[in-house]
Amino acid sequence: MTKSDKSAKAGLMERLRQGSVICAEGYLFECERRGYLQAGAFVPEVVVEHPEVITELHREFVHAGSDIVEAFSYYGHRETLRIIGKEHLLEPLNKNALEIARQVADETGTLVAGDLSNTNLFTDDPGSHKTVRGMFDEQLAWAVEAGADLLIGETFSYLGEALIAVEAMRATGLPTVVTMVFHQEDTTRDGFSATETAKRLEDAGADVVGLNCGRGPRTMLPLLKEVRDAVKCEVAALPVPYRTTQEQPTMQSLRDPNTDIRPFPTALDPFVCTRYEIADFTRDAHELGVRYLGVCCGAGPHHIRSMAEALGRKPAASRYSPDMSKHAFMGTDPTLKKENRDYAERL
Ligand SMILES: [Zn+2]
Repeated sequence: MTKSDKSAKAGLMERLRQGSVICAEGYLFECERRGYLQAGAFVPEVVVEHPEVITELHREFVHAGSDIVEAFSYYGHRETLRIIGKEHLLEPLNKNALEIARQVADETGTLVAGDLSNTNLFTDDPGSHKTVRGMFDEQLAWAVEAGADLLIGETFSYLGEALIAVEAMRATGLPTVVTMVFHQEDTTRDGFSATETAKRLEDAGADVVGLNCGRGPRTMLPLLKEVRDAVKCEVAALPVPYRTTQEQPTMQSLRDPNTDIRPFPTALDPFVCTRYEIADFTRDAHELGVRYLGVCCGAGPHHIRSMAEALGRKPAASRYSPDMSKHAFMGTDPTLKKENRDYAERL
């Protein structure tokens, strides 16, 4: 599909009206695992240094069922680049991220999303609000120029900052998704409940309001119900794929039970949800009326495929979904050797 075919392609809101939309996230962690991004500052320099890695990862997520190719500009803003002394990369990084996403979306008939994230500069000081707005506006201008189909503002823990993002995104006229991260408290950092936060974001004109990152499926669901009950607009849910608990409700608060060491962000492996747990979450969220679904930090293509299949879809990757009946030792296929099936008990 080329840019000129764009009008023929259903947009975000139309797709949501027709059913569900999947958006794969979690590019930071996946690139870190693959050895192309440094944990710590978590700046996506990879889109400049190894664009082919991002092209391929976008393709893998679409193959697994993602309807949206989210430009990997997460944390590619002025403040994170300042920390690593590379502010000169701001424009090439954002433009490359959008260009790569556009290319894969055109290939696959999916939607390109421009991306904004928490700036880590928002405070009570109104001066900071101006700075934040300026940072959003410069990133949005590149997203619009690149022909983004929608805009995502994500992982905000201040309602105030999310409202600035919504106002800036709305000024472009593109469909707008805004997702909040709730940490250990059930309120934003500026003290708003999930219900109040969702209402205010809807009132500000966001098309889709929801939650992403921070919480795993189990601890996101109760807040998600609050959000769904609070608004009339579409709701988004993109948990991290970790087994968070009531006592440790976020990936940052998880502790290794043997050492009490914090495994975030590079030793979370023992807590990773199986694909079946992601399928359970998908069904639960969908039953609540949540139509915009995805998985955040820690997501792999197998999680996205599982999500798609739980929604009754068959993405291209389903061609390779498991069929253990043909396993040489554990399978049930009658042509398999009985001796091997018996031996399987001892494996
Ligand atoms: Zn995340």
